Amino acid sequence: MKTRNKKMKTYGKTKLTVEQMHSNPFDARAAGHVHYFTGKPCKHGHIAPRYVKRYSCIECNRIEHEKRYIPHPRKLLTSEEKAKRRKAYYQKHKGHIKALKQKWWQENKEQLSLQNAEWKKNNPENEKKRSRERYKAEPEKFIENAKKYYHENRETILEKRRKYRAANKEKFKERNRAYYHRKKKEESE
Ligand SMILES: [Zn+2]
Repeated sequence: MKTRNKKMKTYGKTKLTVEQMHSNPFDARAAGHVHYFTGKPCKHGHIAPRYVKRYSCIECNRIEHEKRYIPHPRKLLTSEEKAKRRKAYYQKHKGHIKALKQKWWQENKEQLSLQNAEWKKNNPENEKKRSRERYKAEPEKFIENAKKYYHENRETILEKRRKYRAANKEKFKERNRAYYHRKKKEESE
């Protein structure tokens, strides 16, 4: 039996590689295997495991299956048509889907917000991008939300800003200095 360099492919419920299979159906059947492997080509030239039940090789079986297979109409749709269907489905069951999502969120709130925070921390660029996109889509709503957030969290935001400024005093000084010089230069030009 040839050993394969490729990643070991396994077959059947027992997940056997061809190396682990019996070479005849009788031993394989006795061992409770689904396949056996002779290493010899079938009458159509495939070198592949064979079924204990039918003695046919899995390649032949696959080809036969493909010939007879009549795909479900859904599988013949283009990706656009599929998207359209999904959208229509969502529209029809919107209330239910939203309720399910909400319930899921409520039940797993703590875990999920931890996960979210972790993800955001690891993907700061993505957050910025999403924020820009939200702004572009509905600038008025975005500004409205930002204002609302600011008013509701004013104290926390200001406290955070104070702390940040205190911790980065030198940076701010440098920035202000640069701003001052730039202004001055612009005025003299
Ligand atoms: Zn075959």
